[in-house]
Amino acid sequence: MTAIRVCDVGPRDGLQNEPGEVPVEAKIALVEALAEAGVPEVEVGSFVDPRRVPRMADTPEVFRRVRRRSGTVYSALVPNLRGAEAALESSADKLAVFASASESFSRRNVNASIAETLARFAPVMELASSRRVPVRAYLSCAFGCPDEGAISPSVVARLSGELLSMGAAEVDVSDTIGVAVPRDVEAVLDAIGPVVPRERTVMHFHDTRGTAVANAWTAIRGGVTILDACCGGLGGCPFAPGATGNLATEDLLYLCERSGVSTGVRLDGVAAAASAISAVLGRRLPSRVLAAIVAAGDCGGPSVHRQDSGAGSSR
Ligand code: MG
Repeated sequence: MTAIRVCDVGPRDGLQNEPGEVPVEAKIALVEALAEAGVPEVEVGSFVDPRRVPRMADTPEVFRRVRRRSGTVYSALVPNLRGAEAALESSADKLAVFASASESFSRRNVNASIAETLARFAPVMELASSRRVPVRAYLSCAFGCPDEGAISPSVVARLSGELLSMGAAEVDVSDTIGVAVPRDVEAVLDAIGPVVPRERTVMHFHDTRGTAVANAWTAIRGGVTILDACCGGLGGCPFAPGATGNLATEDLLYLCERSGVSTGVRLDGVAAAASAISAVLGRRLPSRVLAAIVAAGDCGGPSVHRQDSGAGSSR
């Protein structure tokens, strides 16, 4: 039986751009609920400049207060050496660095060229390696960029190779603006195949145009065994207008469950976690499967879905 590993990046990628305050207790509860549901890896937050990403300023507190489940990997996004030191001080199990496959997006997102970004990673990789902590390397805009349009799969392959040779344990090929369709996923997998072993290939999709589940399925059929998702379909990107909504963890789990792909994650547990954070945020989240579960009344906990969707009537 095929098995995949799901990394829920909701507490970080999902919440980092929330316009309003998200109470630290809600973040802690979200991380704990996801781990409890069996999610093997949770991206807890990021150690970035709080002036740039105010929503992540409480990441050290989340790390300190989360009750950790043995076997779960609690990771953190870090932009540079200082962030990496802080993350290790918080006992992050894994670090994540981020580069872009698009030169103009890189300058807009981190105010540095791709080459400058890679140079910043070197000391992070060194430190992580000395502490035996693995590093994931995101490659954003790997399928397209809001400024440059299409990105060549050969560029993705070259940068992926550089990231691996610098010491990354895995490369996370990310469709930051949600433009990819299955044919693009196949093209990128073909291009990176000779460079990145499949078991070190992660894929990260956004459902901006409704293609995330199709892309995830294509990735799984192509041998990818690690996929990112966000509970409820949380997320977006401030520098990529309209890039709302990561692939929803519930949608991915449903796809896998019904297709004979094992994840080890309980769909109802993730749906309950998403419902709880949905109530805190005061709005419905985009996951279709979550909406179906809530409408069927199978999901415990408070939910704004339930109040405004006439839940139960379509049973
Ligand atoms: Mg994302």
